[in-house]
Amino acid sequence: MATPTDEGAREKLHFIQRIVREHNASGRFDGRVCTRFPPEPNGYLHIGHAKSICINFGIAAEFGGKCNLRFDDTNPIKEEQEFVDSIVADVRWLGFEPAEILYASDYYGRMWAWAEELIEKGLAYVCDLTPDQVRETRGTLTEPGRESPHRNRSVAENLDLFRRMRSGEFPDGSRTLRAKIDMAAPNLNLRDPVMYRILTAHHHRTGDAWCVYPMYDWAHPLSDSVEGITHSLASIEFENHRPLYDWFLDSLGIYHPQQIEFARLELSHTLVTKRKLRALVEEGHVAGWDDPRMPTLAAMRRRGYPPAALRDFAARIGVAKDENLVEYALLEHCVREVLNREAPRFLGVLDPLRVVLTNWPEGKVEMLPAVNNPEDESAGTREIPFSGELLIEAADFMEDPPRKFFRLRPGGEVRLRWGYIIRCDEVVKDAAGKIVELRCTCDLDTRGGHAPDGRKIKGTIHWVSAAHAIPATVRQYGALFSVPEPGRVEDFRTVLAEDSLVEIADAWVEPALRDAEPGFAFQLERLGYYCVDRDRAADRLVLNRTATLRDTWAKIAAKGD
Ligand code: ATP
Ligand code: MG
Repeated sequence: MATPTDEGAREKLHFIQRIVREHNASGRFDGRVCTRFPPEPNGYLHIGHAKSICINFGIAAEFGGKCNLRFDDTNPIKEEQEFVDSIVADVRWLGFEPAEILYASDYYGRMWAWAEELIEKGLAYVCDLTPDQVRETRGTLTEPGRESPHRNRSVAENLDLFRRMRSGEFPDGSRTLRAKIDMAAPNLNLRDPVMYRILTAHHHRTGDAWCVYPMYDWAHPLSDSVEGITHSLASIEFENHRPLYDWFLDSLGIYHPQQIEFARLELSHTLVTKRKLRALVEEGHVAGWDDPRMPTLAAMRRRGYPPAALRDFAARIGVAKDENLVEYALLEHCVREVLNREAPRFLGVLDPLRVVLTNWPEGKVEMLPAVNNPEDESAGTREIPFSGELLIEAADFMEDPPRKFFRLRPGGEVRLRWGYIIRCDEVVKDAAGKIVELRCTCDLDTRGGHAPDGRKIKGTIHWVSAAHAIPATVRQYGALFSVPEPGRVEDFRTVLAEDSLVEIADAWVEPALRDAEPGFAFQLERLGYYCVDRDRAADRLVLNRTATLRDTWAKIAAKGD
């Protein structure tokens, strides 16, 4: 008979799926599966969180369980309601609905009672050392720590001091409650860790009710236990904390979830930890949490990344224990795949060069049919106005081109997308010698782009009608950092890329985009994927370039195979 592990190997399950299957087979949690995604509301969610969200919600969905969104709100100084709201919105945007939205602060009362229970069991004590002294007496990896002089206080004295900590009798930082474990433990987290500190601070939910706050390592296992979490999935930095997680729950003898760690996502050319991203925002290196260069979900939404692409990305990077740096190009590849399928196509010109069709009837405007999405017939068609004065991309004309240049040249012909074949007769320059206009003839028999005489036209270029086009500012984004691993540089500020935002002020797009709402995502043919930014004005579009058309990842991946 196949064991669950054998089956797992056959179906290519990741190690967490295998563990859950084993638990279900052995009845460890009575077949129940309950996970949680536990962010601290001290910033916006980033792409690393997308990985964690997809794992947590994915495991719950796969095994018919549930997944909570729980805020680990134990540090009132850094936490804000704005972050809570953005996190809820981002989880939903990514496509997941939490079974419940909960807060560690909901359990402060119960945590307090459990702390008193540990004191009564002789497993916790009030310590008068300052935070610096606690650090100094903690020892190192090679040396044991020193015991606090207050370690052997009586239960009665501890209880009395602990209650007086809560009633506000002592100044901030003057006392802590510490677990009485082992100052010589090889794992530093077990050297009498602090459970509570005195902190006079307003909490975004509990207000001024408390002046003592639990530490994360104490609050987290208790919150998991209260919620009946079965599998507490954490990133790898919590591996060293698991013995403490287990110690607290075992010492209290309460319901005990299984913590399992997986590797953090590291993404090239960016940072995936909230506190560093927060520094970027607060120091003004970016325009805000949703600056489209940021790796936050809010920024990716604003930049036009579809949530389905992020979910696909999370699935492709997989779940394992060992860290690996994922190329940003893989994320872009996933974005392009979705947009290629779904984004409607339009014409637009980023660097306009005026084309006058000398034989086009004066004042005539023709509406040319165009296919919205060649990948999706149901997207239908639209009409684009065509007239005697057009704008083309300056780079699509060369006065003295190399042999393989198939676009427009003096005396040469080119096809206009969805339009006609034109020939360049004359190049008009200004006094400085700059090309300002091309005078061309339109072959009026070639509507739709086909020459009745069967002559071959190799090049097809994009264009807009000058009188009908809508002005647009286009923001093109590059990597925020100039090195692949800014997180490993001593100060990431020194490796910020200089050209991560390039603004193009004189772009023009076809009039069908006139009323496009912020967030509307589309392709500009031959140029890339774009979306409308919320900064758009009534008479001027602002576009974010979501991604270029060319997929460098496909090449990287092919080479790697
Ligand atoms: P901070 O820098 O404030 O610690 P963070 O980016 O680590 O922020 P947390 O709020 O600590 O975010 O993490 C919330 C959850 O998301 C945790 O379960 C954590 O394990 C997970 N997580 C955070 N960053 C990543 C990442 N890069 N890859 C995978 N999971 C992550
Ligand atoms: Mg963290």
